[in-house]
Amino acid sequence: MDEFDLIARYFAPLAARADDIVLGIGDDAALLRTPPGATLAVAVDTLVAGVHVPHDCAPAALGYRVAAVNLSDLAAMGARPRFATLALTLETAAAAWLEAFAAGLASALAPAGVALVGGDTTRGPLCVTLQLLGWAPEVPLRRDGARVGDHVLVSGTLGDARAALDLLGQAAADADQAWLLERYYRPTPRLALGQALAGLAHAAIDVSDGLVADLGHVARASGVAIDVELERLPLSPALRRHAGDGAARCAAAGGDDYELAFTVAAADRGRVIEQAAALGVTVTDVGRVVAGAGVRCRDADGRDQAAELAGYRHF
Ligand code: ADP
Ligand code: MG
Repeated sequence: MDEFDLIARYFAPLAARADDIVLGIGDDAALLRTPPGATLAVAVDTLVAGVHVPHDCAPAALGYRVAAVNLSDLAAMGARPRFATLALTLETAAAAWLEAFAAGLASALAPAGVALVGGDTTRGPLCVTLQLLGWAPEVPLRRDGARVGDHVLVSGTLGDARAALDLLGQAAADADQAWLLERYYRPTPRLALGQALAGLAHAAIDVSDGLVADLGHVARASGVAIDVELERLPLSPALRRHAGDGAARCAAAGGDDYELAFTVAAADRGRVIEQAAALGVTVTDVGRVVAGAGVRCRDADGRDQAAELAGYRHF
């Protein structure tokens, strides 16, 4: 199987025909039509085997994950993803691996309405780069819009993927471990929520590095401080059972959950919670935006744990 057979067989099927795709896979460049006046939203993510995912990561999980983490970035802007390009570096072209990888990729891209329009295929240590292109809303969700008095909300549950890190490479011993691993390998990009929040939330970010670290980016960009209550962080039943007393710390410091953290005016808080519920997403109020700088994360006794939690990084 040469490079061209490989592309035709595994990746061309992900390239749907559509009016906005003048030329997709097969020429020297893709030609894409842009809606008049639209603002392009672009994001790219790379997963390197042995760095971001284990070397023996199942190919379907790798394909899903590289798309999901990217979709999450567009979700955090309130954008609508539309096109993707894929740069794939492979040690060998194994048919079973490619088939599973392409299926995993399609399982994330297709429901999001994203067409694969091009890419590059090379030989070398396993590395996957996916670029996403989409359309930004009228008022994009940015990191720099948080205002003093805003409430800080997060979607879903936090800390599950952090707990799963300790389980990678082993078979799940029970249903809780299986669920935590699923949260790590198949995060849910919150696209509909992000789009619903555009024009409503003042600031947003997706939680990839950990809540305290990521809210730190929002606080810095917005020139405010953020107070988070450790006790209020949304924890899954599986994480509570698995991590016990460590669950809240996983939620505050652990990354890879790809939930949205965002700030809204106090007056919009109820409406946002209702709109999210209508989309099937639970959002939880975890703190407030205040004057100052940095993130404080208070435990039940009112002690600030942020410094310790920020030191609990992956690197
Ligand atoms: P060139 O040599 O001009 O860069 P390539 O041989 O790299 O062309 O690619 C041929 C066509 O296949 C291009 O349209 C390119 O976008 C597409 N392509 C290459 N690799 C991939 C891939 N992994 N996924 C999707 N499309 C790909
Ligand atoms: Mg090329």
